[in-house]
Amino acid sequence: MNVSFRSTYDFLAPSRISFGWGRRREAGSLARSLGHRAFLIHGSEALERLGIVEEIAESLRKEGIETVRLGTIDHEPLVEDVDRMSALLRESGGTPGDFLLALGGGSAIDLAKASAAMATNRRSLTVKDYLEGVGSGLQVEADPLPLLAMPTTAGTGSEATKNAVISSRRPPFKKSIRSDRMVPRAVIVDPELSVSVPPEVTAATGMDAITQLVESYISLRASPIPQAIALQGLALAAPSIVRAYRSGSDRDAREKMSHAALLSGLALANSGLGMAHGVAAALGIHANVPHGLACAVMLPVALRVNLEVREAEIGLLGEVLCGRRFGSSAEGATAALEKVEELCAAVGIPRRLRDLGVRREQLPAIVESSRGSSMSGNPRQLSDAELGAILESML
Ligand code: NAD
Repeated sequence: MNVSFRSTYDFLAPSRISFGWGRRREAGSLARSLGHRAFLIHGSEALERLGIVEEIAESLRKEGIETVRLGTIDHEPLVEDVDRMSALLRESGGTPGDFLLALGGGSAIDLAKASAAMATNRRSLTVKDYLEGVGSGLQVEADPLPLLAMPTTAGTGSEATKNAVISSRRPPFKKSIRSDRMVPRAVIVDPELSVSVPPEVTAATGMDAITQLVESYISLRASPIPQAIALQGLALAAPSIVRAYRSGSDRDAREKMSHAALLSGLALANSGLGMAHGVAAALGIHANVPHGLACAVMLPVALRVNLEVREAEIGLLGEVLCGRRFGSSAEGATAALEKVEELCAAVGIPRRLRDLGVRREQLPAIVESSRGSSMSGNPRQLSDAELGAILESML
């Protein structure tokens, strides 16, 4: 099959990735090289209830690392969340030996990534000034505090990326602070941490990972290492997401989804994304749709829209997703689309924007807010009128 190949590229990744069931218990020994005081930001309350936060603190204690609880987050991070956390860090942290530990989904990890950057980059006290497209253009020039990321959802891959997505309600935006310096220093992916994730979050976050693998593969900025990674991620995720959704304690399914999510982060950080993620950010801002769910709803449409310019690539994805060969790219591409639609239906993803609470009068604002870094990687350029018509047809 004749797929594209970019012959010049860079590849960025965390310095150390430790993957494996139960490996949270090694947090202390793996964190030793990062420092001796950990500022902890964590997500879900379930982690506290299940004793996981304490278990990790104990593992750090055994290695002589003090844990300072900086805060928790139960929503996708807002500018004010980052500003509050980074003020706390500036007051009490930032001395040699300090590092951040993020335990949670993409929300907790992004909050920690942005706060770690704001703790050492002090030209402004608000992260807004560092956000792409809405800020005053400040750049992350100093290394952030080191970060150990421990994802508890299998979705965003934020543990392996160089950006943090930060939202604002007034004015409404969802934008990234981004720098090569922001890739977490160390990552522990313990798939057992995702066992308590409820089915609907398993579905949305898992489809987020699949969307990232697909979009990075066909992106205008697609590059060879992420493309190779994406194929393995999709081959593992396609047969696992429904099992993880139906049976949260299925170890094999959780392991494969956690690995696929990690790969999706490595892929997106080095290849960019596309239309599904562009629109997903806008759906998050204007209709408060959780990130993964928005990506999942948009993925079949994004595949259809890009089919004519990426038939060979989508054809190959069809073979990987279905685990069999097809006679032609066109057949493979059709199979890719059908498979994605089948997976979405099997994990309860709605098809229509109105099912997400989107109203017709919101569409112009959604189109406008879809224009960000993700959309710039979409293989087919879409005018506002075209994008508006696509979204109208999805209402
Ligand atoms: P999330 O972190 O918001 O978590 C979703 C829900 O699951 C929350 O209610 C959380 O409390 C709960 N949860 C998390 N772990 C749990 C566990 N182990 N058990 C029970 N419940 C648990 O969702 P997410 O999809 O992981 O992250 C979304 C955020 O990540 C969005 O803001 C999105 O924009 C961002 N994102 C960032 C990147 C990046 O590269 N930086 C990439 C994609 C998405």
